[in-house]
Amino acid sequence: MSIVENLRLVQNEIPSHVKLIAVSKTKPNEAIMECYEAGQRVFGENKPQELTQKWNDLPKDIEWHMIGHLQTNKVKYIAPFVSLIHSVDSPKLLAVIDKEAAKNNRVIDCLFQMHIAQEETKFGFDYAELAEFLDSGAIDEFKNVCMVGVMGMATFTDDVEQVRGEFHDLKEIFIKIKQKYYASEPSFKEVSMGMSDDFRIAIEEGSTMVRVGSAIFGERVYL
Ligand SMILES: *Cc1c(COP(=O)(O)O)cnc(C)c1O
Repeated sequence: MSIVENLRLVQNEIPSHVKLIAVSKTKPNEAIMECYEAGQRVFGENKPQELTQKWNDLPKDIEWHMIGHLQTNKVKYIAPFVSLIHSVDSPKLLAVIDKEAAKNNRVIDCLFQMHIAQEETKFGFDYAELAEFLDSGAIDEFKNVCMVGVMGMATFTDDVEQVRGEFHDLKEIFIKIKQKYYASEPSFKEVSMGMSDDFRIAIEEGSTMVRVGSAIFGERVYL
């Protein structure tokens, strides 16, 4: 099956209120252009250098999302153009994004990455950590970031009910944070959850953004 056929199959399963982020990491510009010519405008990458190179090379009406763990010293590369950073996993990172956004006269939309999986290795806040940070009021100083919701990754497992439970937890966390800290901010509305193997479950559990790579572009080969 071609990339465009895969894209159409995925698009057909996504309701109109859910945004599809086509995850193009490790894939060449030609593959991205096939999707672009089929109308896809939102792409996700997880490495700042690769993201910056692709932004440079490809049409300027593409909306680029940073979805992977971001080191503070790399923020400067993507701050001029990135549309949404899904992976804000510490107050320190948010402070650097705010500073780099200000240098570029921009306000950068961001999501709090929440740790919902059982694996120790996945990045993200837990609810208590995030609540402590938000209670501190430190975020009010950051004028060049706009928090628009949360992101999370489920455990890598075949246990569908576990995955569903973790997505359910993320939605609950979103609702709590929204009510407590962002009740008067309509822009805080996104729940980024769901990848190739679990986006259908994520949508059932209230996802508003799915990040789908291999189901569109095929398996990735890491060299
Ligand atoms: C790679 C990646 C995806 C896409 O994964 P697929 O299984 O290929 O759909 C989604 N989210 C994040 C954070 C990723 O790193």
